[in-house]
Amino acid sequence: MNFIKMNKKKNIALIAHDNRKDDLVRWVNNNKDKLKNHNLFGTGTTAKIIRDKTGLNVKGFNSGPLGGDQQIGARIVEGYIDFMIFFWDPMTSQPHDPDVKALLRIGVLYDIPVASNQATADFMFSSELIGEVYNRRVIDYSRRID
Ligand code: PGA
Repeated sequence: MNFIKMNKKKNIALIAHDNRKDDLVRWVNNNKDKLKNHNLFGTGTTAKIIRDKTGLNVKGFNSGPLGGDQQIGARIVEGYIDFMIFFWDPMTSQPHDPDVKALLRIGVLYDIPVASNQATADFMFSSELIGEVYNRRVIDYSRRID
């Protein structure tokens, strides 16, 4: 088992598909006071909308269909992004569905908290662990294979 340390200040990815962007903006506004204590990232359009509608500082990557999900996935692999709120749309297929699936898989593999809906985001974000150091446990698959 490998441990990856999450600091008190989390590096949080915020992503929403088009039909769910309003829901994410509402959630971010409701949690703004706490979110401003963390580093925020997002896929291009989501990041811009959150910046415009909440005034929070969110670093944007490419738009999701242009590789933004993959950029965020890469940062999870590198151990930088360690928390994700991803309101994906359960009713609409996306041109970048393979990227979405890959991102969700990487989230599981690297043991980061991932919320796909509001209730999960609420429970996750009200955890006392949000402001604590936490060691994620990443299964060492190479040893399992050996
Ligand atoms: P967007 O991408 O924030 O650029 O719209 C989100 C996504 O489709 O993954």
